[in-house]
Amino acid sequence: MASNIEFTAKQTAYRAYIDHCGSCPVCAADSETCTTAQDLWEMYAARAETGQ
Ligand SMILES: [Zn+2]
Repeated sequence: MASNIEFTAKQTAYRAYIDHCGSCPVCAADSETCTTAQDLWEMYAARAETGQ
């Protein structure tokens, strides 16, 4: 089903964000200053909205 593909894409985007936060020295200091984390989160948020 198409919904399963959307779910997997959302989970993948979320995992990428979590993985980044766990290995990024900028995020460890202050995640709000990390543009990479912001990009990853926006990617996840966009999928989360369209995946509903
Ligand atoms: Zn980061």
